[in-house]
Amino acid sequence: MSVSEPSVENLNVLTSTQSIIKEALEKLGYGTEMYELLREPLRTLTVRFPVRMDNGTVKVFTGYRAQHNDAIGPTKGGIRFHPDVTEDEVKALSLWMSIKCGIANLPYGGGKGGVICDPRDMSFREQERLARAYVRAISQLVGPTKDIPAPDVMTNSQVMAWMMDEYSRIREFDSPGFITGKPVVLGGSLGRDTSTARGVAICIREAAKHSLIKLQGSRVVVQGFGNAGSYLAKFMHDSGAKVIGISDAYGALYDERGLDIDGLLERRDSFGTVTKLFKNTITNKELLELDCDILVPAAIENQITLQNAANIKAKIVVEAANGPTTMEATRILTENGVLLVPDVLGNAGGVIVSYFEWVQNNQGYYWTEEEVSTRLEELMIRSFDTVYKTALARSIDMRLAAYMVGVRRMAEAVELRGWV
Ligand code: GLU
Repeated sequence: MSVSEPSVENLNVLTSTQSIIKEALEKLGYGTEMYELLREPLRTLTVRFPVRMDNGTVKVFTGYRAQHNDAIGPTKGGIRFHPDVTEDEVKALSLWMSIKCGIANLPYGGGKGGVICDPRDMSFREQERLARAYVRAISQLVGPTKDIPAPDVMTNSQVMAWMMDEYSRIREFDSPGFITGKPVVLGGSLGRDTSTARGVAICIREAAKHSLIKLQGSRVVVQGFGNAGSYLAKFMHDSGAKVIGISDAYGALYDERGLDIDGLLERRDSFGTVTKLFKNTITNKELLELDCDILVPAAIENQITLQNAANIKAKIVVEAANGPTTMEATRILTENGVLLVPDVLGNAGGVIVSYFEWVQNNQGYYWTEEEVSTRLEELMIRSFDTVYKTALARSIDMRLAAYMVGVRRMAEAVELRGWV
């Protein structure tokens, strides 16, 4: 980019994803019709539904469910409860799920759902009524062979249990395969709760090998202390790395000698909030720019942008969140020699074990934790290698390589079905 050219950053996750899908399809030799089909979900449902609050008043919530493409199989992807959910975000998240499933070779297209709400301000029973009302509102569109939801930001196995129960009541038969990320006693898979973090840890290990970084004693920073971030901090700590920084939505903690991760895990609430208990906090912005070896954004979108990309000191960035780094920031990190493992590969462990859970539900036969982790390991390493080798062979960054690997199968399926 020349100096006179103003750098306008695209923070819209949908349009920026469309541009990289376009680039990946072009590099694979597909024409504009394929892009025209794949640039938006095939179906997006907007729902508004009333929920009775504990104080007797009724609140109307808005939610979405997007199904990107079902040429390969049913669509798959989580449901997030967050005040900043938008239709474009849910659509982008469904596109990312397609790419993720493509990379890991799962028989799914991408889907995603979201409800505009803040569960941190809602009671347990209000969250239950919200979860059930949302399922009633989208029930025509979803199902074990159509579109299979799962947890995402601020939803967990309890929310999945309520949703599964509501769906089973509507359909009048027990439907564990309708949703994944359930509690184990209700047909969940062993190892699903830690699977996203396990996948991220495997990517960190592989990336460290290529970057010649020794994990033992390496300095790790994790942004976000939810399902992915908290387990990852634990795994890195237990494997001998030094987790020097963590954060939640309200602030960040830093200790160059390494934080007491077990103590923090004990004190976090179910949404991963923990920094409120401490006085000496730093900001999320300061956290991202800490001097460290490995940085893992595990919170929300648009955290590494043109504003701070040049200040990132980590040698490896592995994205556990969806969309934490903008396309422009990706370019800067790559120019600065940072090895960036993109979200669609880095956090694929979650949907991989979701797939195992769905397979177990369909068979009614349940695997041991060891079987789950061996198969997860196999799939993650294979996915990492394929993307890494594509990036090397084409001299492109791992994000574009991941999109090329991920979209190829879907485009092939679309052609074979005669859609394009
Ligand atoms: N929400 C997770 C993701 O973004 C998991 C999706 C799933 O398990 O279907 O990958």
